[in-house]
Amino acid sequence: MTENKLSALKNCKKCGRLFQAENGVSLCSRCNEDIDDEFTRVREYIYDNPSSSVKDVSSGTGVHTDAILKWIREGKIVLGSNSNIAFCERCGEPTTGSRFCPKCVKDLATGLKAGLEDSNHKQQVGMHIKESSKK
Ligand SMILES: [Zn+2]
Ligand SMILES: [Zn+2]
Repeated sequence: MTENKLSALKNCKKCGRLFQAENGVSLCSRCNEDIDDEFTRVREYIYDNPSSSVKDVSSGTGVHTDAILKWIREGKIVLGSNSNIAFCERCGEPTTGSRFCPKCVKDLATGLKAGLEDSNHKQQVGMHIKESSKK
C-alpha cells in the first residue's frame, strides 16, 4: 500500500499555490509567514501608537482593517487603556471609543422613538378592545 493519509495537496487559500497540507491547514507556509509578518507589524504599530484608530493602523502598516479587527476580536492584539479602538456593542463595528457606532446610535434613537410610539399605540388598542368587550 502506498496511500498517504497524513498530507494531501491543497490549493493555498490566499495565493492559490499547491502545497502539502497537513490536518486542516489552509495556507501555504509562505502565506503563513506573511500573516505572521503582518501581525507583528500591526502589534508593533499599536504598541508605538496606542491611541490610533483601526484606520490609522491599517494605513500605517498596509494591513487590511478586517485582519486587524479580527486579531483584536480574537484577543491576539491587546489594546492599551488609552486606545481609541472600541467596538459597537450592537453590531461589532469599530468605534472611536464609544459604546455604539454612529450608525447604531442613529438606529437606536429612531428605534427607541418607534418603540415608544408603538407601545402607546398598543395601549390605545388594548383599551379599545376592553371597552368594546364590556358591552
Ligand atoms: Zn499561499
Ligand atoms: Zn453599530
